[in-house]
Amino acid sequence: TVETNYFLTDSFEVYKRYIPIDPFTHKGKQGHALIIGGSYGKIGAVCLAAKSALKSGCGLITAYLPKCGYVVIQSAFPEAMAITNGEEHITHINFDFEPKAIGIGPGMGQHPETQKAFHDFLIRYKHPLVIDADGLNILSYNKEWLELLPVNTILTPHPKELERLMGTWNDGFDKIEKMKTFCSKYHVILVAKDARTMVVYGNEVHVNTSGNAALATGGSGDTLTGIITGLLAQGYTAADAAVFGVYLHGLTADIALPQTGMQGFTASMIPDYIGKAYHEIE
Ligand code: AMP
Ligand code: MG
Repeated sequence: TVETNYFLTDSFEVYKRYIPIDPFTHKGKQGHALIIGGSYGKIGAVCLAAKSALKSGCGLITAYLPKCGYVVIQSAFPEAMAITNGEEHITHINFDFEPKAIGIGPGMGQHPETQKAFHDFLIRYKHPLVIDADGLNILSYNKEWLELLPVNTILTPHPKELERLMGTWNDGFDKIEKMKTFCSKYHVILVAKDARTMVVYGNEVHVNTSGNAALATGGSGDTLTGIITGLLAQGYTAADAAVFGVYLHGLTADIALPQTGMQGFTASMIPDYIGKAYHEIE
C-alpha cells in the first residue's frame, strides 16, 4: 500500500484554493452549470442543487428534469432555466449546449428507463462531472459502468451509498485504504460524506473541519452537489472544487447556527448562507 498523506481542510487551506471574482467578468465567463435529476415527488432535490450551484457563483444554471418538475422549478427559482423530458421520470438525457460542469443524481430515481438514459449519457459525456444520490445508486447496481466515468469525476456518497459502491469496511484505516483503491481503479475523487467528511484522491485524504449536526437534515447533500458543480463550472479543478465545496457547505451551517438553532435549520436555508460563508473565507 502507498503511504497516505493526511490534510485538515481549514480556513487557511481553503483560502489557498479560492478564486476571487474578476471585476470584469460576465455571466458567460462565470460558467454554465447543469443539474440533472428529479422524479415525481423528488423535484425539491433539483431545486436545492440548482439554487446552490448558482449561489456558489457560477453564471448560469440549467436544470434537466422530468415534465412534472417544470412548473415547480420555474416558480420556486426563476433564475434557473429548465429542460424536460419524460413525464414522471427522466427517459433520455439530451441537450444542445455545452455546460462547463454537470451534477447528476439528486432525486433522480432508479427507473429502468432512467438507468438506461444515465448509461447512454456516460458513454457520450467526457467533461467534469459530479455524481450523487440515485446516480451513485444506479452505479452500485451496474458496477461495470464505473469504467465509463470521465477522469476526476467527483462522487459524493453518504456512508450507505459508499458501502453500496465499494462494500463494507472494518475500521477507519480499512475504509481509507478501500477508498484509495477505489479512486485509483476508476480515476475518480471520493467525497465520503459524514460528520467529518473526507475528500480522497490519489494518496491524499482531506478531512473537513467545518459543519455541524444541523446538516443532518433532508436535502443537505443535494445542496453540496450543487455547490461542487457550481465551483467546477467556474473553473475550479475537480480536487479544489471538492475540498473547497465541502468546507463552504459546512461553513453555511456554522454561520447559521446562532440564528436558526440546530433543530430549526433546514436544507433550503443552505443556499442563502453561501454568500456569508464566502465573506468569511475572503
Ligand atoms: P445527505 O445524506 O446526502 O443528505 O448528505 C448529508 C450532508 O450533511 C453531508 O454533506 C454530510 O457531511 C452532512 N452532515 C450530516 N450529518 C452531519 C453531522 N452530524 N455533522 C456535520 N455534517 C453532517
Ligand atoms: Mg443525499
